Amino acid sequence: MKKFHFKVSLLIASLWLSLISGVLAAGNAPDEPLVMTSGDGRFELYSDTNLDPKEAHAFLLTVQNAWNWLLETQQWVNPTLLDGQPVQLRLLDDDNAPSGGSGRGFTIALKRLYTLPDLTKGTVAHELNHVQDRRQTGNGVVPGFITEGRGLTNGFWYRYSLGLPPQPYDHALARSIANFTPEQMSDVVHRMQRGDVHDANDPKANARLEFGGAWFVEYLRTTFNGHGFPDVQPRLASVISEVHNGIPFEDAFKKVFGVEFSRVQDAFIAFVTNTEGTHRVKSMIWEGLIGKENRN
Ligand SMILES: [Zn+2]
Repeated sequence: MKKFHFKVSLLIASLWLSLISGVLAAGNAPDEPLVMTSGDGRFELYSDTNLDPKEAHAFLLTVQNAWNWLLETQQWVNPTLLDGQPVQLRLLDDDNAPSGGSGRGFTIALKRLYTLPDLTKGTVAHELNHVQDRRQTGNGVVPGFITEGRGLTNGFWYRYSLGLPPQPYDHALARSIANFTPEQMSDVVHRMQRGDVHDANDPKANARLEFGGAWFVEYLRTTFNGHGFPDVQPRLASVISEVHNGIPFEDAFKKVFGVEFSRVQDAFIAFVTNTEGTHRVKSMIWEGLIGKENRN
């Protein structure tokens, strides 16, 4: 019995330790030097290169503009979670630095700013979307294909709001959608749904998760039940805030959308099964992009 108690208290102690180290890790600053902080103190820019102050300032402005657009369009419902600690932005010299981040901030390869300036504005909105969704979610669980679907489509909508033309990336995404099988999409919306899945060992599975998630969100916006939910993004932001309160994702979805999540999953797979080619993106953000990648 004593041994049992000892084991339990060891377990509790190690849980505490991992909790504390988790908190410490969350508070850590990036390894790179701090280059500049935005005037409102909301964003900190770190970099491993000698960034020109003008360049640093321009990037912070890019981030703030994307942030303002997100605040307006997402309407996250828990305002106390909107600020908290500053968002840490890392601009790295490594050309292969992947875009990505956590609840604290995100990383972008400096080269992307110069070679893909339009696409990168969308990437910034995508990553900021993740940062705030994670703050809103807390310990709650949101399916990875939903968070990625939100990030990708919001990145597109943000670029679109700036009047930027479709990118080769959008054409590639539309082409993938045309080629996905019902089995692949069923795998995405049923199996790959727990947590924010990023399988680094299987880039194709990761692309299916992200692109399939984006397609699912657009399907929900335009097509589900014949009319869809035009305000799908603020609704999903509400679902995410509900999950923060300890409500399971499926229950939060039902509360906000008024339909069972499983009904949408089934309807989406039926849609994938019964459509092909351009019909798969009808009324969606990729309409007109399938098969036209060489025309602009
Ligand atoms: Zn993402």
